[in-house]
Amino acid sequence: MMGAGMHDLDLFSAALGLDEPWEVVDVQFDSARRRLDLRIDFAKGARFRCPECDVPGCKVHDTEPHTWRHLNFFQHEAYLTARVPRVICAEHGVRQVAVPWARERSDFTLLFEALVMALAKEMPVKAIADLVGEHDTKLWRIVHHYVDLAVDAQDLSHTEQLGIDDTSFRRGQDYVSVFCDLDPGQRRAVFVCEGRDQDTVAQFAGFLSDHGGDPDHITEVCQDMSAAYLAGVREHLPQAQVTFDRFHVKQKLSEAIDTVRRAEAKEHKQLLKNTRYLWLKRPDNLTVKQLDWLDELLLQPLDTVRAYEQALRFDDFYELADPAEAEEYLRRWVTDAKASDLEPLVGFAEMLEAHWSGVIRWHHTRASNGLLEGLNSLIQAAKRRARGYRSARNYKTMIYLVAGKLTAGPQLA
Ligand SMILES: [Zn+2]
Repeated sequence: MMGAGMHDLDLFSAALGLDEPWEVVDVQFDSARRRLDLRIDFAKGARFRCPECDVPGCKVHDTEPHTWRHLNFFQHEAYLTARVPRVICAEHGVRQVAVPWARERSDFTLLFEALVMALAKEMPVKAIADLVGEHDTKLWRIVHHYVDLAVDAQDLSHTEQLGIDDTSFRRGQDYVSVFCDLDPGQRRAVFVCEGRDQDTVAQFAGFLSDHGGDPDHITEVCQDMSAAYLAGVREHLPQAQVTFDRFHVKQKLSEAIDTVRRAEAKEHKQLLKNTRYLWLKRPDNLTVKQLDWLDELLLQPLDTVRAYEQALRFDDFYELADPAEAEEYLRRWVTDAKASDLEPLVGFAEMLEAHWSGVIRWHHTRASNGLLEGLNSLIQAAKRRARGYRSARNYKTMIYLVAGKLTAGPQLA
């Protein structure tokens, strides 16, 4: 063990940014335990501000010792210890003062918390916990605190274009709904809540109102064809025009093709064995070998082939530049699909008809939940690394952190 001289103590005080009446009064290195302990104290007779009303000059009533984990000093874990005074305020009685290096009730300094927040954007909280040698529930508490503050501080007074999507966790058992501001300069997740029913939209509308926004100012919503979201939007965002997200529309079509294939595979087991991805991937994403295989299959008199070819023609709806022309094209496509007599395809065509204006509207808004799709892949990666989130709260917080563009963390001078 080794102490430090007077001059060194001043240096530590300066490095910690301590001001009167606080100063570092003792430093102990313990190389065997790889630990650095800094003792901080205030000058005898010092007076403090009341934490409640900020009135200066309050006398110290008593003190309570506390230790905070600080940033490592090279390979040494560093800790600050201080006796935290309780002061007597004429108006508020006995109150514990706020120390400048940590927030109330935290066992970590602000700089340590800033490090945790910076790392949390890049790696799973469990991995940070292993790295710094703390239990991850303690670190989650830090992350929740700062993310909650940042989420709460959001100004949504300019939010007009909205994207809604759901994402699952706990092996698809549970869902959260993610509400995104789709304004080009603002694209980010602004609200996350549990479930994917109509009520989630009501919750969002309430949150919007509480953060300077106005549900009547939401003019565009991009979502999947979920009836629950649609009903919620109609009721709680009454001025919004709905666009059905291109990705989700095509997902429904893929499901229809797959249903045709599965039904037919019972009859043509050998021919359709292991061909699922051939029909679902775009031809330009297949290898030469797979393309040859597909070409062979396309010569067969199969329902799957008819469904596949009809589906390929659907893509052109999104490629056409002129909205009127695109609508006309889709009308013909729907007529053909219904004439195919392939039940899943007919079902898909009828669903398009039932959601017509929102499908066509894509050509006016070009809205896409692409941000959400990108977000989903980030979350999936984080989920794999962290082996699942223990609670919906952790999952929501991670979405805010990854996709919320929040400046979550302590305010450092
Ligand atoms: Zn006071």
